[in-house]
Amino acid sequence: MTYPDFMNAAEQICFYGKNLWLRQMVAANDGNLSCRLLGGGVAVTPTGSSKGMLKKEAIIRVDESGKRLAGQGSPSIETGMHLAIYQACPQAGAVIHAHSVAATAFASVGEAPNERFLPEAIVNLGQIALVPYFKPGSEALAQAVGAAAVGHRALLLANHGAVCYGRDLKEAYFRIEALEHYLQILLLTRGLGGAKDLTGKQLADLEEFNQR
Ligand SMILES: [Zn+2]
Repeated sequence: MTYPDFMNAAEQICFYGKNLWLRQMVAANDGNLSCRLLGGGVAVTPTGSSKGMLKKEAIIRVDESGKRLAGQGSPSIETGMHLAIYQACPQAGAVIHAHSVAATAFASVGEAPNERFLPEAIVNLGQIALVPYFKPGSEALAQAVGAAAVGHRALLLANHGAVCYGRDLKEAYFRIEALEHYLQILLLTRGLGGAKDLTGKQLADLEEFNQR
């Protein structure tokens, strides 16, 4: 995997940040985005910024310990959570955290749903994990998310929101969008009496497709 340089990463973070905001997956200063960089380190959004109004000059470069290498302002308070995922998951090239409505609703009732009725959700998201509540921005949250990210690429954070990672920002963004979409559909299906889950044979066929 070739990672983008800092300027390219900053442009992509602004682009996907704006999409998060336009899709109402964040409100006010919620959410944060990051990606690994060519030559090492990570580009991350600054704290206290609307993801709909980011300027590429505001994006910050940090090293693997979170120390700022370039950019003004302070990196997101959740930088430690992003770095914990990169440390735990070598395949993660980008991480996005949002407070999208359905994901945050499920996270707030303490449920990580895994009804297996939509092929796209099964293939894109895999098993959804629920991370217990820890104070936003805390080292405890970072450690818990890093541990849960091994084997899970879509995570709900209890009483807080959602985190997804991917090989690059596009994949991480698609996952968090797909997670929210799946959970909104799931809510509707529950009101309609419940979706019909795929059969074991249908799931096995999908698994085969996933391996390829
Ligand atoms: Zn948050």
